Amino acid sequence: MKLDATDLRYITSDEFRVLTAVEMGSKNHEVVPLSLIVQISGLRNGGVNKLVGSLAKRNLISRMQNAKYDGYRLTYGGYDYLAMRAMSRRDTLHSVGNQIGVGKESDIYVVADAEGNEIVLKLHRLGRVSFRAIKEKRDYLGKRKSASWMYMSRLAAEKEYAFMKILHEHNFPVPRPIDQARHTILMEFIDAYPLRQVSEVANPGKLYSELMDVIVRFAQAGLIHGDYNEFNILIHRETGSPIVIDFPQMVSTSHENAEWYFNRDVECIRTFFKRRFRYESSLYPRFRKTVEESGKGGFKLDVMVEASGFGRKEMKMLEEYMESVKQEERDSEEYSDEDEEDEDEDEDDDVAENEPPADKEGADRNFEERYAGQEEAITKSGQ
Ligand code: ADP
Ligand code: MG
Repeated sequence: MKLDATDLRYITSDEFRVLTAVEMGSKNHEVVPLSLIVQISGLRNGGVNKLVGSLAKRNLISRMQNAKYDGYRLTYGGYDYLAMRAMSRRDTLHSVGNQIGVGKESDIYVVADAEGNEIVLKLHRLGRVSFRAIKEKRDYLGKRKSASWMYMSRLAAEKEYAFMKILHEHNFPVPRPIDQARHTILMEFIDAYPLRQVSEVANPGKLYSELMDVIVRFAQAGLIHGDYNEFNILIHRETGSPIVIDFPQMVSTSHENAEWYFNRDVECIRTFFKRRFRYESSLYPRFRKTVEESGKGGFKLDVMVEASGFGRKEMKMLEEYMESVKQEERDSEEYSDEDEEDEDEDEDDDVAENEPPADKEGADRNFEERYAGQEEAITKSGQ
């Protein structure tokens, strides 16, 4: 999706009022009736008529004709616009450059601050995937259902920002967060390659232990990344050190499936190193031991994030949303293997399950069985 920041300067104050009115109306209307836009904006009827026309032409809102009444809906473009405008007003965002990433649930742009420094804008796009499953299953959205893509995308951005801030303050290798507005965050640009693109490293063992150390430090601080893989680990172009990104799915070590998430993060790294660098080690962190050790005098970042404003309720909502979407994906498509280029001789060692266990006890048992007796076998293949 194209972002046009030059537009940020050229919206009239009346257009802005109308756009904001559509956003506010969207909170409890799937399609916001013109009369409500008039009412919220406090502008004259005739004026609003013209203004919605010009906003629709710029794709910031779209006209919907439904059986009961006609009205308007905020588009992704309109929501992007409002977020970027807020940042631009605060002078954290000055101009927009190129898109560098497009995920299933986010768009990433290189942008610039007022001094012309490159920074990164991440726009969350939850709800690109349909909401059918959630609507059927959950009622927590209540009246918000109609605006759920906006709401969930905003929650994801708020959560990611809250975590990034606390992690950065505690010297974790993460980008410096700069600002957050609606469904977007601004952060430091890292001059790096995703680990996914790295075909060779001078010392795989060193990188491996650095990455495992980060998992351990996270857990000792009460956190699990939850999506710790070669896509979310960047390798700094100059220093070669890893930087971790992408935090909307982070969970606390007191989460009911914490051990499962922890083990999956560890396994992702082990599997990747085996495949890509032919590197294996018998040393890898264990959940219980890690958490027990941190029990003595460890600090709890999960608690601190909650205290900072991103509460338990929001966390739960986002988590349920993410789980529902994953469930829906599993239901609606056969899983296509993204790693088609990776020849894998050790399929057995993979953690095949992509979802947390319903039966936690059972899953712990499986994990322990999987690793029983393996601890002694030091193998560093390729030697
Ligand atoms: P998603 O949730 O879509 O996976 P990510 O936060 O993982 O989004 O970012 C997607 C990609 O964008 C990353 O793999 C990386 O290439 C790039 N990227 C994200 N954040 C930064 C950053 N701060 N600096 C440099 N590149 C980044
Ligand atoms: Mg990612």
